[in-house]
Amino acid sequence: MALYEKTAAELSAMLAKKEVSAVELAQDVFARTKAVEDKVQGYVTLTEESALAQAAEIDKRRAAGEELPALAGIPVAIKDNICTKGTLTTCASKMLYNFKPPYNATVMEKLAAQGVVVTGKANMDEFAMGSSCENSAAHPTHNPHDVNRVPGGSSGGSAAVVAAGEVPLSLGSDTGGSIRQPAAFCGVTGLKPTYGAVSRYGLIAFASSLDQIGPFGRSIEDVAMLLDAITGHDPMHDSTSVKTPFEGTVRAGLNADIKGMKIGLPKEYFGAGISDAVRESVLAAAETYKNLGAEVFEISLPLVEYALPVYYILSSAEASSNLARFDGVKYGYRTPNAGDDVIALYTKSRSEGFGAEVQRRIMLGTYVLSSGYYDAYYKKARAAQRKIREEFANAFDKCDVILTPVAPTTAYGIGAKTTNPLEMYAGDICTVSVNIAGLPGLVQPCGFDGDKMPIGMQLIGPRFGEQTLLNAGLAFEQASGLRNIIAAL
Ligand code: GLN
Repeated sequence: MALYEKTAAELSAMLAKKEVSAVELAQDVFARTKAVEDKVQGYVTLTEESALAQAAEIDKRRAAGEELPALAGIPVAIKDNICTKGTLTTCASKMLYNFKPPYNATVMEKLAAQGVVVTGKANMDEFAMGSSCENSAAHPTHNPHDVNRVPGGSSGGSAAVVAAGEVPLSLGSDTGGSIRQPAAFCGVTGLKPTYGAVSRYGLIAFASSLDQIGPFGRSIEDVAMLLDAITGHDPMHDSTSVKTPFEGTVRAGLNADIKGMKIGLPKEYFGAGISDAVRESVLAAAETYKNLGAEVFEISLPLVEYALPVYYILSSAEASSNLARFDGVKYGYRTPNAGDDVIALYTKSRSEGFGAEVQRRIMLGTYVLSSGYYDAYYKKARAAQRKIREEFANAFDKCDVILTPVAPTTAYGIGAKTTNPLEMYAGDICTVSVNIAGLPGLVQPCGFDGDKMPIGMQLIGPRFGEQTLLNAGLAFEQASGLRNIIAAL
């Protein structure tokens, strides 16, 4: 087995036993990347030089006999909306084409303390708005399992580079499904943590009340390792972050014995609109759970019907406010065509710097917040959000976790939905409620469709139910053997 086919946990053990050095591993990672990146296009920026320097530093410390954390020397790719000090952070937007943050996101400080090797910045939909990784000002990313298809979005680059064997771990962000849907499309494991479990400081904001950073990996254990590294209260920088009950202990707490676990199947998630292949595969996973001794039963979450409008109203409202800071003055792109008119400077910088989808969200958000429509749209969406939260809370009185599909279909062809934004939005139906309710959601592979494209399943937990989720995920992973799926390319 080549190094690039190993999971992060396997590589961590090899590094600790000095069977491989961090520099050798980093060299292997960049060799694989050079071999396949032409086809995948998962990165916006590669940081080979600094990665090799970080790896050399780890080797030096290990040689000196230092006891190192589990992730020391492990290569990790970072979504391009997470601020990396001195390294381009573009959000895949012309607006930030030249932005080198003067500071690190909290997660980057945490990863640095672990000694990870940062391989580069992964491609995404511009400002994390999209479901296919086609809305990137850089280039679209391709699904490693079929390069004519999308990898999903918005963290499509982060998912694709893991699936392509370019890197064992990556970070993404999830506002309405952007970790979970690309994980499903690319056949990798991804977790959207509970809102507040991971500091958002240095994550370039899309919708602050919904955004969360989370890990991608090739196995449950890998995802647990990276989650352990990034969770934590950040009182200095993110007042919405909290101390979780599982800080740093999820990997050690993994336990595949799920006998008696109560798993709810919400009937609304399996109805019309979900493809047969996806439905059958997720229902087969439910059978596996029954065989493992879980109690699996149908539940009802009827408010899912309102999830998409609620999500697109709230997220666009917050986006319109968050993105007001990009004005051509403070940072990023500035139009050369404004003469000495300051209003033209603002409007032209924004019209030229933002792509079509970002402009659409800003207009939608400004509209739902405008005085004549605030009550009719924004306020109503907030009220519906409370109802959706209650509905999930009630469901978790009856069950430990909820099992659903991730997306209505497997990965579709590049260009298939780019002309119809509403069709693109409809693909988010199974994921957005999790953000609206602030819950954790785990996605892992559960099968393949007739074209051999990966199918993912989603496990939703109560707030701070990450350990239970990952235990349930591990039980399925062991029973199915579906882990560490790397595209042949
Ligand atoms: N696809 C959703 C959107 O376009 C979710 C994006 C995300 O989670 N960042 O808004």
